[in-house]
Amino acid sequence: MFPGADVERAEVLVVGGGNAGISLAARLLRDGAPDVAVVAPQPVHRYKPLLNYVAGGEATMADLERPMADVVPEGCRWIRDAVEAVDPTAMTVRTRGGRALSCSTLVLCPGLVEDWEATPGLQSAYTDGWAASSYVPGSTPQVWPRLTALRRGSVVFTVPPEPASCGPTALKPLLMACDHWRRAGVLPDVAVRLVLPGPTATAVPEADEILDRTFAGYGVEVLREARIERVDWERRAVTVTSPSGRRVLEDVDFAHAVPHYRAPSWIADGGLAADPTPGLVDIDPETLRSRRHGSIWAIGDAAAVATRPSGGALRQQVDILAKNLAAARKGKPLQRYDGYTVMPITVARRTLLLAEVDRDSRPSPSVPFVDPMKPRRATWFFDRYVLPRTYFRRILRGRV
Ligand SMILES: Cc1cc2nc3c(=O)[nH]c(=O)nc-3n(C[C@H](O)[C@H](O)[C@H](O)COP(=O)(O)OP(=O)(O)OC[C@H]3O[C@@H](n4cnc5c(N)ncnc54)[C@H](O)[C@@H]3O)c2cc1C
Repeated sequence: MFPGADVERAEVLVVGGGNAGISLAARLLRDGAPDVAVVAPQPVHRYKPLLNYVAGGEATMADLERPMADVVPEGCRWIRDAVEAVDPTAMTVRTRGGRALSCSTLVLCPGLVEDWEATPGLQSAYTDGWAASSYVPGSTPQVWPRLTALRRGSVVFTVPPEPASCGPTALKPLLMACDHWRRAGVLPDVAVRLVLPGPTATAVPEADEILDRTFAGYGVEVLREARIERVDWERRAVTVTSPSGRRVLEDVDFAHAVPHYRAPSWIADGGLAADPTPGLVDIDPETLRSRRHGSIWAIGDAAAVATRPSGGALRQQVDILAKNLAAARKGKPLQRYDGYTVMPITVARRTLLLAEVDRDSRPSPSVPFVDPMKPRRATWFFDRYVLPRTYFRRILRGRV
């Protein structure tokens, strides 16, 4: 228990007002929960998948941002503050604003934070504007103008290592830009390098085969099992390490270098993580319940769900968690999440492949008889236009 503050109470307390927190709160209220509160500090809610389309010149920030007040479901208490400590035994949290909140059920979904220290020099490169990416929203609107202004020279793109959210989607701006450069007739004059954390882009063989062909077709040099060790923006240099050694890429004109990510440190400080780095909430990845505290649950990017974090994965996690909270209250058996997740990747400016897989990277298509891995314009249209509408109208309202 946190001393010195009056304690406010909620039956169910949800930490985080992103995709996970808002859709879960809406769903619980639809199911009849009487007292749900969400703690969320930001005045703006973002539909993050569209950030890649902003970076690819196909959307604006206004397409993906809504005032938080518009997405907090009716009947839900919005506590506009940030959690900074949790006492799992007392079932209490303390906020940055000095409040103490207690609850019977605590659901943690605060997402991830940038780990700038993991890549020395990168934050200064963002401040300077030499680096920008779809993952850092303040920098995202600069990406497409910077890429399309380039008619010759050298660019570096990265896919962030996990636990970064839906990492392979960072390929979207890369492949949309390559398509643009090819149409503009300048692709042979632009040296494009891609830094991949793993041996392949997705670890899904069907998708990797298509992507490797696409990289080769655009002439992208792929640095595998590699990561950016440091960035020296004054020399416009990026140092990359991989099993084959260290390599300094010099005279880089623009770096779409995504920072590394970790969970907020108060999760590990509260004894709720298995490992302080990356500090994800230690849950049973099937039931979504904390392994240490029966009344604490977690979903979304900050939860150790043992699959690739994505918004698509959340559609199932929210449903299973809502059912499991009810089942736990009645002492009934819990449902199990199979790790379903998605990776939508544009292979050209308006063509998209959708890798839908389970926890073991086995294909798990949500529409029968249609191969989502096959790149299609219709899938692109669905991802760019249909899903965002579904997100704001149905997913955030707990209807999916
Ligand atoms: C660039 C990008 C592209 C993506 N593309 C796709 C895609 O194409 N398809 C797909 O399925 N998924 C995609 N994703 C992944 C998807 O957006 C995430 O998986 C999803 O947003 C995770 O939801 P979340 O609620 O866990 O985290 P978030 O959406 O990050 O929300 C976390 C919330 O918690 C709040 N918060 C943070 N700290 C605190 C605190 N201390 N106290 C209280 N609240 C706090 C934050 O302000 C935020 O509102 C993408 C992600 C990114 C970054």
